[in-house]
Amino acid sequence: MIRTVFNNGKYIKYEHHGVEVIVRKDLKGKHRESCLCYECSLLMSPCPIAKDLFALDKKYHIVTPVFECPDFREERLLDER
Ligand code: SF4
Repeated sequence: MIRTVFNNGKYIKYEHHGVEVIVRKDLKGKHRESCLCYECSLLMSPCPIAKDLFALDKKYHIVTPVFECPDFREERLLDER
């Protein structure tokens, strides 16, 4: 539920897992479509980078999509082996 709008609607504040967070309105809910991890075959391996990042996200109530990663491996590449 959106509670507050800032800067003529550029940012919104809403409750996420019980904590009020602020997000750019145009990026709200876009994490999955921009994060490499959701297209990476290593995510469930489990990936130590993603595990550490998720722990940080939980600790500070932040959302951190991965845009660049040296270990990214697209699922399709595994099928080609
Ligand atoms: S290897 Fe990189 S892209 Fe793949 S799950 Fe881990 S952090 Fe995400």
